[in-house]
Amino acid sequence: MYSLNEKLLAETQKKLQGGVTLDSKSLAELRSKFGEKLDRALKLLADGHVKKYTFKPSKREVWIVVGRTRDYQVLPRLYCMCDDFYLNVVIRRSDPACYHMLAQMSAEATKKFDEIEEHDEKYDLFMQEWANPTEEQTS
Ligand SMILES: [Zn+2]
Repeated sequence: MYSLNEKLLAETQKKLQGGVTLDSKSLAELRSKFGEKLDRALKLLADGHVKKYTFKPSKREVWIVVGRTRDYQVLPRLYCMCDDFYLNVVIRRSDPACYHMLAQMSAEATKKFDEIEEHDEKYDLFMQEWANPTEEQTS
């Protein structure tokens, strides 16, 4: 289950990067694997909730997905700071990714994301804010 999803995810990303639009068949396949997670990811993407911060001059990149009550930092294909990632990806290993990661991947592949440039001086301040949000998401 785990490796199958991962393979599907990799294939999808390859398709998107090659400029191939997802057809209804592969979209249906993705939906059967990820269920409402895919819909949530696509909604985040459509709403412009995926942002890439680039800090200059170091060119450090930070991906942020804006959630309902807080922002999540996503390390592409590796990590997300949400509960879903921790529970279902790390502990239960039932999913290869959370929907923030799906959204980030889709955004990167389709180049649909906000690009924000900040100075390196502000890096620590931003990281602190993302790591310690004022409100926790409970769902
Ligand atoms: Zn997440």
